[in-house]
Amino acid sequence: MRFDKRVWLASPTMHGDELRYMQEAYETNWMSTVGKNIDEVERQIAEKIGVKYAVALSAGTAALHLCTRLAGVTLYGMPQAGKGVLQGRKVFCSDMTFAATLNSVAYENGDAVFIDSERDTWNMDPVALEKAFEKFPNVRLVVLVHLYGTPAKVDEIRAICKKHGALLVEDAAESFGASYKGVQTGSFGDFNAISFNGNKIITGSSGGMFLTDKMEDADRVRKWSTQSREPFPWYEHEEIGYNYRMSNVIAGVVRGQLPYLEEHVVQKHAIYERYKEGFKGLPVQMNPYDATNSVPNFWLSCMIIDENAVGEGGGKTTPAKILERLADMNAEGRPIWKPMHMQPMYRNHAFVTAAGTDVGADIFTRGLCLPSDNKMTLEQQDFIIAAIRACFGK
Ligand SMILES: *Cc1c(COP(=O)(O)O)cnc(C)c1O
Repeated sequence: MRFDKRVWLASPTMHGDELRYMQEAYETNWMSTVGKNIDEVERQIAEKIGVKYAVALSAGTAALHLCTRLAGVTLYGMPQAGKGVLQGRKVFCSDMTFAATLNSVAYENGDAVFIDSERDTWNMDPVALEKAFEKFPNVRLVVLVHLYGTPAKVDEIRAICKKHGALLVEDAAESFGASYKGVQTGSFGDFNAISFNGNKIITGSSGGMFLTDKMEDADRVRKWSTQSREPFPWYEHEEIGYNYRMSNVIAGVVRGQLPYLEEHVVQKHAIYERYKEGFKGLPVQMNPYDATNSVPNFWLSCMIIDENAVGEGGGKTTPAKILERLADMNAEGRPIWKPMHMQPMYRNHAFVTAAGTDVGADIFTRGLCLPSDNKMTLEQQDFIIAAIRACFGK
């Protein structure tokens, strides 16, 4: 059994309105980083997430970079020319995440300290974070990710940040539409970022957004993202700038996608539940979440194989074996995002665990991401479930 058309992990799902808004940008000649689409997506997303200000940017990575830069300037002031604002300062970061989270810290020469994951949501472990503050009491910045669209333990993390006088950057790139205690992710940090990358829950083909309740922060990010021009008739500059603003054409795509965010979440949730049901009796669990306090956006469905689970042929059923089977049937799975403390480029960085065991490495070793595309049909998903069951001899 092999699908004629590839079943993706997560691919763009267009609806038609995107083209209309892109065309409108073209016909009104707002082929620029200014225009109605940008104004509209900023207004609608600020309202959706429940923050006062949103600044549309070229990528989630750009949004995260300006988050960490702003955090650094707030904490330590403007650096000397040529130096990063976090120059050598330690920053506590989610360990199991996509590299972009950490790149934003590295761009400002911060020294990332990785905080291990917990088992309940696979996100930053508050116990490990508290331990990290005991070990490095001078740290003033925490970067928190909601992995795969599952909200982290927000209350616990925020309480620890408050106790230690630390600022929080929230990387909600994967979790747009997810909520914690009824409040949308992307609103919990002092500085917040979301992404419209092609594989996210809704997309602009690219793009990202900075979110805040503070007008002065929104103004600063808007200025930095447009080359830090001062209000003079000529080009006048006091600070380094970036060309990070979102295009009005891209904003047209985001604008067309926005009405379908909830629909995508419903589809992704259904995919998650079908996997869960389909895996009954197998020695596996789905990626966990806190059903009492949070509603994930179910961006990616993942599974983790029980320790010592034995599969076909008497050997262990490994994630690699399942991924190979999926690839054979023309479906895209992926290993769990490899924890940052295991990445070659961060080999010399500190890593803090809650109790001495490396939870991130364990999830990475036993887990995998399943095909989670919202255009996957029931029939296709049934085939995928049957193939995975067969990997366990069921
Ligand atoms: C996708 C992603 C980003 C980066 O967003 P881009 O829009 O691709 O730059 C950052 N953090 C996480 C966790 C992501 O998944």
